[in-house]
Amino acid sequence: MPIVAQTEKFFPLKGWGEVLAQSVRSSDELLAALELHLENLGNGLSAARQFPVLVPRPFVERMRKGDPRDPLLLQVLPLAAEDQLAAGFTVDPLGEQSTNVETGVIHKYHGRVLLLAASGCAVNCRYCFRRHFPYNENRLGRSQWQSALEYIAQDASIAEVILSGGDPLMLQDERLAELVEQIATIPHVQRLRVHSRLPVVIVQRLTEQLTDILTRTRLRSTLVLHVNHPNELTPEHAQRLALLRQAGVTLLNQTVLLKGVNDSAEVLIELSEQLFNHHLLPYYLHVLDRVQGAQHFDVSSSEAYALYQQMLAQLPGYLVPKLVREEAGQPHKTPLHAF
Ligand SMILES: *Cc1c(COP(=O)(O)O)cnc(C)c1O
Ligand code: SF4
Repeated sequence: MPIVAQTEKFFPLKGWGEVLAQSVRSSDELLAALELHLENLGNGLSAARQFPVLVPRPFVERMRKGDPRDPLLLQVLPLAAEDQLAAGFTVDPLGEQSTNVETGVIHKYHGRVLLLAASGCAVNCRYCFRRHFPYNENRLGRSQWQSALEYIAQDASIAEVILSGGDPLMLQDERLAELVEQIATIPHVQRLRVHSRLPVVIVQRLTEQLTDILTRTRLRSTLVLHVNHPNELTPEHAQRLALLRQAGVTLLNQTVLLKGVNDSAEVLIELSEQLFNHHLLPYYLHVLDRVQGAQHFDVSSSEAYALYQQMLAQLPGYLVPKLVREEAGQPHKTPLHAF
């Protein structure tokens, strides 16, 4: 018998938890894997202390070796630029720390609530608006689930529950199943939405059990992934997402517009086309939330709008995401307009 076949038999494909446990957790390790030298990049040691490096290996494997400008690397590598302060960039740009956090529910928009289902993520994205969020004070234990579910049950205007975090797919399937079942017992809730980046960086997270959880409920389910660059997608994503779609889950994507990563019409157009090839429809293209430490990713509104117009000119309408910004105090995400 060939050795390869035997090896496969005894070492099946790793589960997502195992892949996550083996993540890269320091800049040095990340740079060594890519054969890069730190001096080239500016030292982000204090940034890394404040918001640690965390990158699953399959995501590292999609980066180009020896390229300090790799669009995937730039999203996860701490840089000294993060320590600079810039006017208008704050620790809580969305004012979330004052919106109902004690219940693990953020209720800003009519008809839908965000449930902070898990506190951690599988990847720490340097531009993240949650990098300063006091997760540990807002972790949802079972008793907090209860008060969050009571909050939802008491407001009949809530038709949709959005599982967010952190990353809600950090929950084990068993706990997720339990949570979805509990949400489904609230009669006025019709829709379930899961916002996650985890399956982008660890595709094994798209388990059969996850498909079951999202389809064996009376709720209509949508999964919104968070892909920023076409290089993040693999054939394995297409295969596993096809199964979710066949089972009836609506599949969308949101992207953050990031300088140096995806701020070109060519990349954004390629991204939309690749999303479609991987069974995802573009939903939102967000301009960056003005969070302290992420100012070097900022693309101006006028540049963003110019890119959006190029997308409109070259793509079918259903492959053009809505270009939006999130503004504290507004009743919905705010579309960007021409100036
Ligand atoms: C983005 C967001 C939503 C979802 O908004 P949609 O426009 O429905 O995608 C809901 N609640 C909060 C707090 C949000 O930030
Ligand atoms: S919340 Fe999303 S963008 Fe922020 S660190 Fe987690 S995965 Fe990255």
